[in-house]
Amino acid sequence: MPDATTPIRVLTEPGVYLIGRQMVQTAELDRFLADHGVSWASDTSVAAEVVTETAGRVCYMSFAKPRPGGNAAYLGHIKEVGHGSVLEHGVWNFLFTGVSRSLTHELVRHRAGFGFSQLSQRYVDESVAEYVEPDIIAADPELHAVWLDAVTHAHAAYVKLAEALNAKLADPKAATAALLPPDADRTTRRKAARQAARSVLPNATETKIFVTANARALRHFLESRGAAAAEPEIRKLAGAVLDVLQRESPNLFGDYRKVPLPDGTFELVTDFKKV
Ligand SMILES: Cc1cc2nc3c(=O)[nH]c(=O)nc-3n(C[C@H](O)[C@H](O)[C@H](O)COP(=O)(O)OP(=O)(O)OC[C@H]3O[C@@H](n4cnc5c(N)ncnc54)[C@H](O)[C@@H]3O)c2cc1C
Repeated sequence: MPDATTPIRVLTEPGVYLIGRQMVQTAELDRFLADHGVSWASDTSVAAEVVTETAGRVCYMSFAKPRPGGNAAYLGHIKEVGHGSVLEHGVWNFLFTGVSRSLTHELVRHRAGFGFSQLSQRYVDESVAEYVEPDIIAADPELHAVWLDAVTHAHAAYVKLAEALNAKLADPKAATAALLPPDADRTTRRKAARQAARSVLPNATETKIFVTANARALRHFLESRGAAAAEPEIRKLAGAVLDVLQRESPNLFGDYRKVPLPDGTFELVTDFKKV
C-alpha cells in the first residue's frame, strides 16, 4: 500500500487506448436497400465511414447512382459543404490515462457529442502518487526541482489528511457530525476522508477518463485543442488522438496536418474547419 513516503511517479506522455469502434450490420443495410429496390455497397471497410455515408445518402436517397470517387469523395464533399450532422453517426470509445486533472477539466468543457466517465477521487485512493509534469518545467532542472518539491509536499499532506480523517470518522460522534451513520463502514469512511483530503491535491494529479465521442465532436476537439493557442498537454493529447483516428478512418480525419511550431511541437490544421 503506497503511503506518504511513496516516491512520486512523474508522467509526461498521455496514454491513449482505443477501446471501442462501431460495426456495420451489413445484412440489415442490404435488407433496407432491397426493400427500397436499390443495391449499393460502399467501397470502404471502415464501419464509421460506411455508417456516415449511409446516413448522408438516406437524406437524398442517393444510393442508386452514386457519383464517382467512392467513400473518400463522398465524405470529402460532406466536409467541404459543411454537412457536419452526418458525421455525428461515426463514434469511437477512448480511454485516456496519464493525463492531469487540469487537462480533464478542459476536456469536459466539450459538451456536444461527448460522453465522459472519469476516475473518482472520492472512491479511488490517490496515494499512488502519479503526477503529470508540464514539458516546459520538466525541461529545466531548477524548475523541475521546485515542481517536484511542491507535488511531494501536496502528496504527503493528502495521505496524512486521508489517514487522519479516516481514523477520526471511526468515532461515532465524528461520523454523525459528518452526516455518516455512527457505525459507518470502512468504505463509507474512506470515501468521506478522501473527498475532503483531495482538496490539497494539485492540478497535476494523474487521472483516467473514458471518452466516447462522435466524428463531428472529435473534429471540433482536434481543431480547438490542437491549435497553437491550446494548452500544450491537451494539444499533445489531441495529436495522439489524431494519430489513432487517422489510422481508424482516413476518410473522416485524413484532412488534418501536423504543422511544426517553433518550440518543436506542432499544431493540427485542416482546410475544413468546424464542419
Ligand atoms: C485555447 C482555448 C482557450 C480557452 N480558454 C478558456 C477560458 O479561459 N475560460 C473558459 O471558461 N473556457 C475556455 N476555453 C474553453 C472554451 O470556451 C469551450 O468551453 C471549450 O473549448 C468547448 O468548446 P465548445 O463550447 O465549442 O464545445 P462543445 O460544448 O462541444 O460544443 C460544440 C459546438 O456546439 C455548439 N453548442 C454547444 N452548446 C451550445 C449551446 N448551449 N448553445 C449554442 N450552441 C452550442 C457550438 O457551436 C459549439 O462550438 C478555452 C478553449 C480553448 C480551445
